[in-house]
Amino acid sequence: MSENIQDSPSETQKADLATGTDFIRALVESDAQTDRFGGRVQTRFPPEPNGYLHIGHAKAICLDFGIAHEHDGICILRFDDTNPETEDESYVDAILEDLQWLGFVPDEVRHSSDYFERLYEWAQHLVRVGLAYVDDQGSDEIADQRGGFGKPGLNSPFRDRTMAENLDLFHRMRDGEFPPGSRVLRARIDMQSENMQLRDPVMYRIRTAKHHRTGEEWPIYPTYDWAHGQGDAIEGVTHSLCTLEFSDNRALYEWFLGHLPLEQPAPYQTEFARLELSHTLTSKRKLKQLIDRGDVDGWDDPRLPTLRALRRRGYPAAALRDFCSFIGVSRTNSRHAIELLESFVRAELNAKAQRRMAVVRPLKLIITNWPTDEEGRPVTEYRTLMNNPENDADGTRQVPFSGELWIEQDDFRQEPPPKYFRLSPGREVRLRGGYLVTCTGAIEDGDGKTTEVHCTYDPATAGGAAADGRKVKATIHWVEANHALDATVALYERLFSADVPGERTGEPLDDLNPSSREIVTGCKVEPILGEQVAGDVVQFERLGYFAVDAENERLFHRTVGLRDEWAKIQKRQSGGS
Ligand code: ATP
Ligand code: MG
Repeated sequence: MSENIQDSPSETQKADLATGTDFIRALVESDAQTDRFGGRVQTRFPPEPNGYLHIGHAKAICLDFGIAHEHDGICILRFDDTNPETEDESYVDAILEDLQWLGFVPDEVRHSSDYFERLYEWAQHLVRVGLAYVDDQGSDEIADQRGGFGKPGLNSPFRDRTMAENLDLFHRMRDGEFPPGSRVLRARIDMQSENMQLRDPVMYRIRTAKHHRTGEEWPIYPTYDWAHGQGDAIEGVTHSLCTLEFSDNRALYEWFLGHLPLEQPAPYQTEFARLELSHTLTSKRKLKQLIDRGDVDGWDDPRLPTLRALRRRGYPAAALRDFCSFIGVSRTNSRHAIELLESFVRAELNAKAQRRMAVVRPLKLIITNWPTDEEGRPVTEYRTLMNNPENDADGTRQVPFSGELWIEQDDFRQEPPPKYFRLSPGREVRLRGGYLVTCTGAIEDGDGKTTEVHCTYDPATAGGAAADGRKVKATIHWVEANHALDATVALYERLFSADVPGERTGEPLDDLNPSSREIVTGCKVEPILGEQVAGDVVQFERLGYFAVDAENERLFHRTVGLRDEWAKIQKRQSGGS
């Protein structure tokens, strides 16, 4: 594991877990004590509708909604739609759907574009008081004059225009008189500021693209910085929570709000660390690249960390929420081990998922002393198996059993290696919920591949226990051959083989795992699986948890395996083996 992978809670997180709080909740609590916002708590979750929500967004959502609800406050879903070129209504719908799936209902749904008129009025106010000006330069010239750290900025030659001229030009920008790129409106702050964000930032640019909600009404569009804090203030947000990369924008957030005629106390911004996971990318831009290149099938490819992909893969929403609450929030960026997330998924599914039997790579097993009917066909018997031993209320099911079964190819060895206790000639094993069987031999094809295993069963061992108390060392699963349904399973491995994709070469795509998906056809599953519906997640005994595909109910996606790799990592860390 790389150095910056956080495999266990940090000391501050442990302290937070013990007290059930974190630095943001402490801030909100202290504002409540001092009555800063008249006792109100209001947050917002502000996605840009230019892509799908991913696991990183889940952390922000749990925080924004969680804090509001803990204080009987409200959380608004605000679509931050200020870039018409990249945004689309289809993303708006998808975000709403994914948010709902995750278990959150916004108290209100708003759009930054709802505020275009108010933002325009406020911008005119800043022009009138001499705090904003129209710059006739292009973006390259403006960038050149910006300077850098320790390098002073240069004032624009248009910085000292009269208020009247600025106002006139700004109105004409709004009226669509000028072509894109010919002019911008800038805040007049300080070209020598240590904080680059304060070096006369752009507030409006001219765009001709059609906006998905306002159409062609606006030829000018506010920048993120000009729209964000103002949107917060208009809505009455108290605590504006965002990720650490916006730390430098905070001063600008405060500057804008500090110079506007607000009617209530200004909201304030607090930053927290982005969620990063090992073996995972959570940048919309990079994810889009994977899709465009065809590395994955689309935004809901179960190997992606988007919420719709995780849902399709069978991750329960409750597991994502539990994970987010466990990792908490901190002020330093770190990367969590993906195994930790998987352990939450497994815990949830262990409690809820029905147990079923499925054979992924089938090998025929014949019980040679099994009774047959008058026509020589093996008699079918129904075995009663528990649906979930973790939950008696889930009851039992009848599973057909006979002398013709499918077992996994892996569960038989003609010549068993040391410590291999499953089937091999002469060996007795337990068929789960069935009988003890002893291998009497096997048939091979011309290439030495086993095609059929022969066994005898002990009729006195129904259920799997021998009356004389003799023990067997292995229990294997099976599916009765004549009732089996055919199925396909998709087995997934990490999409990126490196813990930190791109750490080696700077290019995450270099770390793509070429065998992240294996589709296995010709699998055999027990007949009750024909009744599962899209989205159901079941445990295939000994194999893992599998989700029924939304379109094809005979396609099962492996959600996660059964082995708790997280426990292993923890053991290694605490010095165990
Ligand atoms: P990306 O970098 O994937 O494009 P983004 O930050 O541009 O994400 P937005 O739609 O602008 O995506 O984000 C909406 C909210 O979600 C923001 O408040 C942002 O801070 C938060 N967010 C985005 N990614 C993460 C993450 N990995 N961890 C925590 N919060 C995140
Ligand atoms: Mg963003």
